[in-house]
Amino acid sequence: MPDSDVFSERLSTPGTDGTSLLKTGRVPSAHWCPSPNFGPRPDGANISLLVVHNISLPPGQFGGPEIEEFFCNRLDHSAHPYFQTIAGIQVSAHLLIRRDGSLVQFVSLLDRAWHAGRSCFAGQEECNDFSIGIELEGTDEIPYTPEQYRALAEVTELIMFAWPDITSDRITGHCDIAPGRKSDPGPSFDWAYFREVLRTARSSRRSV
Ligand SMILES: [Zn+2]
Repeated sequence: MPDSDVFSERLSTPGTDGTSLLKTGRVPSAHWCPSPNFGPRPDGANISLLVVHNISLPPGQFGGPEIEEFFCNRLDHSAHPYFQTIAGIQVSAHLLIRRDGSLVQFVSLLDRAWHAGRSCFAGQEECNDFSIGIELEGTDEIPYTPEQYRALAEVTELIMFAWPDITSDRITGHCDIAPGRKSDPGPSFDWAYFREVLRTARSSRRSV
């Protein structure tokens, strides 16, 4: 398990406020890789949920361009047997956090990304309408990296600042809003550790 003390110093400079995020929907530190797989949120939708996912393409392999290609409908489905099983599927997420902690953004946070599918949180269905979806490059079994926890905590802190209806009890896993159908981010995601790093990030902003 990573040592959170190592990160408390790095987390002390959130670096930006939520203003530009509310205006543009773009995370300043993320590489912009626009996906066509999105739409407007329904009228009156209140951004109030954050969903954590995982993805790796091919499964268990990290670092290639395939996730971006998949979310942008450019994946060569003949390149790997697994890719044939996901041919024709059009999906996206707002953000991807790579193993080194770098961020890629596919859809403006103001828009509706296609990450949750059939889903329900606290009695409210169609979570894509009111949520932000963040993918971690990873699998259900392989531990995520300290850099990913730090990056996820930093961007979550920024998102919670911009959309305060995303309270800490409204941060959930794909497995929790689509039980029986989805298993990510999986047992490899250490929720207690993530919440600890997030608390540090949030208290850093309050003390600035
Ligand atoms: Zn997922």
